[in-house]
Amino acid sequence: MNLLPACLLEADVHAYVWVLVYLSIGRYETNDLRMGEHLGTHLDAPRHFAEGQWSIAEIPPENLVASAVVVDIRYKAATDPDVTVTVSDIQKWEEENGRIPKGAVVVQCSGWSAFYGKNKTAFWGNDREDTTDFHFPGFGFESVSWLLEHRDIVGIAVDTPSLDCGQCKGFPVHVVAGTYNIYGIENMKDTCLLPSSGAILYVAPMKIAEGSGGPVRLLGVWDDSASRGCAAYIHVNLLMLALDFCVLI
Ligand SMILES: [Zn+2]
Repeated sequence: MNLLPACLLEADVHAYVWVLVYLSIGRYETNDLRMGEHLGTHLDAPRHFAEGQWSIAEIPPENLVASAVVVDIRYKAATDPDVTVTVSDIQKWEEENGRIPKGAVVVQCSGWSAFYGKNKTAFWGNDREDTTDFHFPGFGFESVSWLLEHRDIVGIAVDTPSLDCGQCKGFPVHVVAGTYNIYGIENMKDTCLLPSSGAILYVAPMKIAEGSGGPVRLLGVWDDSASRGCAAYIHVNLLMLALDFCVLI
């Protein structure tokens, strides 16, 4: 029995795996994984920052299948890592796509997941030694408050390490979202490959009793419908939206 480190690409995670191999019966592999709840692509349960709100096991299943409202902020994140999703970004989405549907997850598209596993300094904004010097986009407190007051959403999601941006002080977005029993998804992959509207997210977190969060297997599904002559066809797109966990054996 060996205690071996696991890796999440090049992210600085603290996960360990016990690898058990029973040679007497041929190949038989089973691992005990020890890790934090908030690693890689993961879900923040409301109780993460709001005592008494839902744990990850208490989130209603109907909240885990949701329309994806993808808000593109690449136009400003490309030149400034400290930007946030603002109220005007959300209102612009509604001008182009219509009112945010009931039960949606609002997804940030900043392009940041392209750095994951490739450019740690760009991903965090520094070498991660100084947490006061983080630089990456997130949601603004005003925009999340506006969504909670004026729309009926179930979650928010970012393609960066935190719902609150790197330079945002404290955790106001985490707190207000949790207070309203809204979950968060962090380190989401390839959000900008989703259509602005029309995709369904399948959010399948590990069901940890009393958990404040947990790793999530995340899928986006949408149709391309078109017609050629008399024949109509539908192409179903399936996009994996979670980063790979990597176990070193
Ligand atoms: Zn988290």
